Amino acid sequence: MSEYFRIPTTGAFGDPIDENPSGVMMEAGYRSVGLDWRYQLFQVPAEGLEDGLKGIRAMGFAGLNLTIPHKIAAIPYMKGLSKSAELIGAINVVVVKEDGLYGENTDGKGFVSGMEANGISLKGKRIVLLGSGGAARAISVECALAGAAEITIVCRTMAKGEELADLIWEKTACIAKAQLWTSGVLLPECDILINATNIGLYPDTNVPDICYDCIKENMIVQDIIPNPAETPFLKKAKELGARTLDGQSMLVHQGALGVELWTGRKPDIEAMKKALREAF
Ligand code: NDP
Repeated sequence: MSEYFRIPTTGAFGDPIDENPSGVMMEAGYRSVGLDWRYQLFQVPAEGLEDGLKGIRAMGFAGLNLTIPHKIAAIPYMKGLSKSAELIGAINVVVVKEDGLYGENTDGKGFVSGMEANGISLKGKRIVLLGSGGAARAISVECALAGAAEITIVCRTMAKGEELADLIWEKTACIAKAQLWTSGVLLPECDILINATNIGLYPDTNVPDICYDCIKENMIVQDIIPNPAETPFLKKAKELGARTLDGQSMLVHQGALGVELWTGRKPDIEAMKKALREAF
């Protein structure tokens, strides 16, 4: 008899994490490449991170995602970082290798591949980004590396926006600047507008407090909020004639990159998207 009962395990550490829908999406991705792998959520508090990371090596995990509050704190435990993870200063994916753990950041890469899957190239584009938190950081670095011409970070905490703009100026060929977010703020002309704040995340029904005359027909407007898929912001942008892309698309592409890094196989995006839609 040659039955094989050990099932490769992956998962995510976070706190809180109970409402994270990644598991169904990731397991749909594994199934789509013919693998019966598992993805489990682990509620790991900040003080449990070091032990948790030792644990995944000892137990032979095939891969791990990190979310709040571990994305920055995990860096000292990595043997190496990808170029963009190093620039972003945060990781959301851990690759387990024989000689140690390696950190990658797929948040911004998921954004870029979601755009590309919709036939949109970032090359030469003028981008306006609302927010200067972790996701804004990952997205702006990857957009700059993908050839964006200009990025304006509109934020209420100027120190964070300016630090990010300086990093992009220094490390990439993209022009970057920060602009203070005041009520009804006028946005500079752009090709792509991105909401990278928490505004509109269920159960919040607010829209970003910007001047909506700045949204023009045929502009691309992306919200990174994954729940709901069609946020009030996207609804408004669509009514104004913009082409809209939702946060579930970015989440799926980010997850697919994780599946690929851990299994070496490209999963079926549509299968992952369907599983995510059913979960929300
Ligand atoms: P952070 O807390 O790091 O950043 C949030 C940002 O939003 C900050 O810049 C914050 O400003 C800004 N912000 C929040 N509320 C307001 C407001 N009322 N007015 C102006 N600015 C505001 O969070 P993350 O960047 O990690 O995540 C942001 C959102 O993106 C979350 O909802 C998350 O679910 C989503 N996300 C989606 C992903 C996907 O794949 N679809 C991937 C990663 C995140 P300040 O700094 O001044 O507080």
